[in-house]
Amino acid sequence: MSGESQSHKVVVVGAGWAGLGATYHLAKQGYDVTLVEAGSYPGGLVAGWKTPGGRSAEAGIHGFWYPYRNIFSLVNELGISPFTTWTRSSQYSPAGLEVESPIFQDLPRLPTPLGTFIYTKFQRLPLIERLSALPLLYTLIDFDNSDAAWRRYDKITARELFKQFGVSARLYRDAFEPMLLVGLFAPGEQCSAAATLGMLYYFILAHQPDFDVVWCRGTVGEKIFSPWVERIEKAGGKFLSNRRVTDLIIDSNNQAKGVICGEEVFDADAVIFAVGVTGMKKIVANSPSLQRCEEFRNLNNLGAIDVLATRLWFDRKIDIPRPSNACFGFDKTTGWTFFDLNALHDEYRDEPGTVIEADFYHANQFIPLENESIIPIVQEYLATCIPGFKEAKVIDSSVIRLPQTVTHFAPGSYQYMLPAKTSLKNVFMSGDWIVNRHGSWSQEKAYVTGLEAANLVVSYLGEGTPAKILPVEADETHIQFARNINQAISQFGQSVLPNFWLP
Ligand SMILES: Cc1cc2nc3c(=O)[nH]c(=O)nc-3n(C[C@H](O)[C@H](O)[C@H](O)COP(=O)(O)OP(=O)(O)OC[C@H]3O[C@@H](n4cnc5c(N)ncnc54)[C@H](O)[C@@H]3O)c2cc1C
Repeated sequence: MSGESQSHKVVVVGAGWAGLGATYHLAKQGYDVTLVEAGSYPGGLVAGWKTPGGRSAEAGIHGFWYPYRNIFSLVNELGISPFTTWTRSSQYSPAGLEVESPIFQDLPRLPTPLGTFIYTKFQRLPLIERLSALPLLYTLIDFDNSDAAWRRYDKITARELFKQFGVSARLYRDAFEPMLLVGLFAPGEQCSAAATLGMLYYFILAHQPDFDVVWCRGTVGEKIFSPWVERIEKAGGKFLSNRRVTDLIIDSNNQAKGVICGEEVFDADAVIFAVGVTGMKKIVANSPSLQRCEEFRNLNNLGAIDVLATRLWFDRKIDIPRPSNACFGFDKTTGWTFFDLNALHDEYRDEPGTVIEADFYHANQFIPLENESIIPIVQEYLATCIPGFKEAKVIDSSVIRLPQTVTHFAPGSYQYMLPAKTSLKNVFMSGDWIVNRHGSWSQEKAYVTGLEAANLVVSYLGEGTPAKILPVEADETHIQFARNINQAISQFGQSVLPNFWLP
């Protein structure tokens, strides 16, 4: 680290996975980096905190799937062990238990997607319905996460895609739509087919163990972000909470010189935005300098989705077969999950009663309700899945409303999502909605985009070394082979046919 590099000032806006990732790397490279966060805690959507009564609360429970290689590597570097062992999960509908998933890495590995089809235990869905997914395999080969593939598939809805490829009505209703509601937080008619294929491939289909998941043994805030922020501060980074960025100072060279936070101004040689879609739209609405750039104005074409996170304390122990459970069919366009926190969180292991987290995605219709109306609905839904909840009494509860919070990968949204580089030379973007080619999703993607933005700063300001980013595991050989043939056929088609049809 040279003395000169320490004088380069970088401001990172937003302390979620993306902002923390960027800040940590730049602090380690000797930059004078300041992370400004509108909220009171680090972690963004994954932040955890204590209620005035001393109970832990967080904005929903977060799983860490097998392919989250960069997050697992960070945790190793920090020398912490925040996670449970691999857990098994179930799926429920109002009819009862629908699906049980094993720990896929413990079973003999089969060429993808055979393991997923053979080892997943469907309780009701007949084989003939499941087989109707076979023609969809072509789209998994054709969608290779390239820019061209996103442009080809982004403007159609997931529902149209499944219909076009002959998926049965029941398979769509009982398997694919529930996956979309918990994976992309929206029903099929509101999801981009490109995002659907990317998400399903990453979490489920690329390799047999991809659907295996671990959870934090407490809030992610306590288990990961607290020790991480400590390390960031030790490396020289500054974390400032309760600072809402409102604008940038841009000079005549199209470069940011400072970041405005109400009355405060932070000088900057480079800026990294690491805020969600809604937060970024609010910054642009306040910022005449960003409004001058078309790509920032166009962000108003993007949207976000309402989420509701509830935590219920019951007066007795209830036997819950699996710690993590996804549910569908209770409300038309809402998916929900519930977690047995006695099994997952150290804090509740010896609790005399049962502690449950129940999170609702695309929860628009619940957001206006009073807590007193929401809690009985949650209890009734839980009792539909596991009858033991019927007689139990709720002795405490917390309800966290998260309106317009998670990224909406709506059909047609890809063209407005921003890449990491912007038209402002020293302003870079990161977060789970940024266009990149890594192939990861959610927390892992947010963290990876943070590292990618830090690397752009390193290359722009010329000090330090880039962060090592682990790629997603390579496609299996038969998938690579099928993709190569498909690409060769499509390149041949393009060379002989006029550029006439819609992509
Ligand atoms: C209920 C729920 C369940 C989820 N489950 C999972 C899961 O199981 N697994 C998984 O991998 N992912 C899950 N996700 C998604 C995951 O939370 C996100 O992908 C990830 O946290 C996004 O991180 P980020 O850094 O991009 O943005 P965020 O976490 O949104 O962080 C952005 C930060 O910017 C701050 N900010 C906004 N505006 C300003 C401003 N003007 N000035 C300063 N700061 C500002 C915000 O306060 C926030 O802290 C879930 C999300 C929710 C809501």
